[in-house]
Amino acid sequence: PGSGPSRPGKRRLGVMGGTFDPIHHGHLVAASEVAAQFHLDEVVFVPTGQPWQKSHRAVSAAEDRYLMTVIATAENPQFSVSRIDIDRGGPTYTVDTLRDLRALNPDTDLFFITGADALAQILTWRDSEELFSLAHFIGVTRPGHHLTDAGLPEGGVSLVEVPALAISSTDCRARVAKGEPVWYLVPDGVVRYIAKRELYRGE
Ligand code: ATP
Ligand code: MG
Repeated sequence: PGSGPSRPGKRRLGVMGGTFDPIHHGHLVAASEVAAQFHLDEVVFVPTGQPWQKSHRAVSAAEDRYLMTVIATAENPQFSVSRIDIDRGGPTYTVDTLRDLRALNPDTDLFFITGADALAQILTWRDSEELFSLAHFIGVTRPGHHLTDAGLPEGGVSLVEVPALAISSTDCRARVAKGEPVWYLVPDGVVRYIAKRELYRGE
């Protein structure tokens, strides 16, 4: 389809959607690795609005998740953060994210970066056929997750192995709640922001 990896002259924009509650080095290494392998010009991190997949637990305020994402990415000239999902309001659907980014970025090919765990569920997402016309999908694998690609459209999806990083936001939150360190799992500025805002204390 038109969004494949080889269109000379087009800007190449990676899109890393996530709850980022908190953002951690797994997210950053994955974005960095995909940017290098796919020759991306930039990766935009897009924190979700109220995430419908995670309605079983309280998600931190959007502004806290947004600011942690800004803190974590600020030093990298290839990384940026978008508020589109937060400012749209309501639950985030990836198809809305990609439609909006498409409209904001003419002459740009989009590469949606997602964990292999999420990619496996992709056909259950809303408007999944349209998704593959809007972006090329890149599934990043992490320890303990294996992808079965049955049913995924040919040419629309690539898989990338990122250096083993058994880091998850869930584990980071649990560590903070137990008083255990998250140094070196998340960027230093994010450790300090979590402490300053007293996030994850009561979980
Ligand atoms: P939670 O534990 O709350 O589900 P998470 O660590 O999976 O959080 P998300 O914000 O849900 O973080 O993840 C955003 C995206 O990054 C998802 O596509 C997810 O699969 C991917 N991702 C999360 N952790 C890693 C990791 N360690 N390495 C590579 N990709 C990751
Ligand atoms: Mg997750």
